[in-house]
Formats: sequence, structure tokens, C-alpha cells
Amino acid sequence: MTDSQAKPPFQIRVVPVTPLQQNCSIIKAPSGKAAVVDPGGEADKILKAAEEFGATIEHIWLTHGHLDHAGGAEALKRKTGAPITGPHQDDTFWLDEIAAQWAQYGHPGMGENCAPDTWLKDGDTLDLDGIEFNVVTTPGHTPGHVVIYHQGAKIAFVGDVLFAGSIGRTDFPQSDHQALIDSITKKLWPLGSEMQFVPGHGPVSTFGHERQTNPFVGDSVTGYQGAEQKPGDAIDQKLAKRWQ
Ligand SMILES: [Zn+2]
Ligand SMILES: [Zn+2]
Repeated sequence: MTDSQAKPPFQIRVVPVTPLQQNCSIIKAPSGKAAVVDPGGEADKILKAAEEFGATIEHIWLTHGHLDHAGGAEALKRKTGAPITGPHQDDTFWLDEIAAQWAQYGHPGMGENCAPDTWLKDGDTLDLDGIEFNVVTTPGHTPGHVVIYHQGAKIAFVGDVLFAGSIGRTDFPQSDHQALIDSITKKLWPLGSEMQFVPGHGPVSTFGHERQTNPFVGDSVTGYQGAEQKPGDAIDQKLAKRWQ
């Protein structure tokens, strides 16, 4: 048995939070030490879930600065002492808008603005009790969005970049549709078809399943052929198909 087929060195519990039903993930190491990805709100609900899970929250990791992903981070930090890490600093303007955004959504007090202790950049690693996670920057939905993954366990926390059957919205300030497509095909797909992902909303899926079926970023749409692909090939392939 190779390392890549080994049992994941951690357990995951997903807790939907806020009226936007954001998938907050609790990642628990064998020791019980845990990281929480995207505590969008309802810190007490997350704490209760962690307690039932036997998890002690030591890290708070954020994929991006949107209200439903980062709105509960400061409250959770106050209750646990866990530092807040991520997203990339290009999402500062979103983190500064969280309280105002929740009020605009009709839920004043649901979340508060967030000032992370550490920003993330492309290629960073995150440590959970000796378990190493990798970080890639994935702009498009927001400019400072990151994806956190564990290669051996084949699991990625992708925030609002990719969903089962869909992709992130790009109708926000500083969103960029082409950047989002590039993030998915150039940063996520090369991680492998077997990579399972927890999206920010909705059910889990795998990159391979989305490459086959996703109406926005399926291979038949993007022309993506594999990890070896050089930049630009996707477009050539698309043209080739069109002119056949
Ligand atoms: Zn979002
Ligand atoms: Zn979201």
C-alpha cells in the first residue's frame, strides 16, 4: 500500500452555518487538536459540534473574506484563543465589510469584521499537529481566495471556487470570471481527479466527477486534457473542436 492510499491522518466534520448554509469544516488530528475551516458564523454551534466531535480548536483557517465564511472567525478566536490564518491579503476589503454585509443581507449581528493574524500566499503550508496541508491561491470569486488541501488524503477545502455542478459567482466587486476558470483548470485539476473536495455550500464531490459533468468547467467545455497541459492548450483545443 502506498502513502497515497493510506487512511487519512485526520477526521472531518462539516457543520453548515448561518442562513447561507456555509459548510464549516472541523479537521481533527488523532490527538484531538483541530483546525476549523471557514467559521462563517454561529461560533457557539461550531464549538458545540467540536465538543461532540472530541475536537479542540487550535487553528482557524479562512478560504476567503466573504461574510458567510469569515463572519464567525473573531468570535471563535475569542472563545478558543486559536489564531486566524488566511485568506490572501487581497481579500482585506471583504473582511472589512462583513458586519455591513450581514446587515445588508437582513441579519445584523450575524458576523463581524475580521483581521487575520497571518495572511496566506501561493505555496504556503499549514500545520495541524504535525499534519501538513498545502495552500494555493485561487483568485476569481474573490481576489484573495485560497484553497487548502492535503495531497495524501486527497481532500481539498475549496470555499466558493468550485461546487458540485457549479462554480463560484463572479458578479462581485473585483471578481474575475476568467481568473476563476484558470484557477480551477490550472491550480485544482492538476492536483488529481481523485481529489475529493468540500465546497463552501452543498454536497462534496471530486475533481474528476466535475471534469466529467460540470457544465461550467467540465473538460468538454474547457478542453482540458490533463495535468501535463501547457498554458494555452485549452484554447487551442477548443478552437480545434470548433473547426472540425
Ligand atoms: Zn464567497
Ligand atoms: Zn459562500
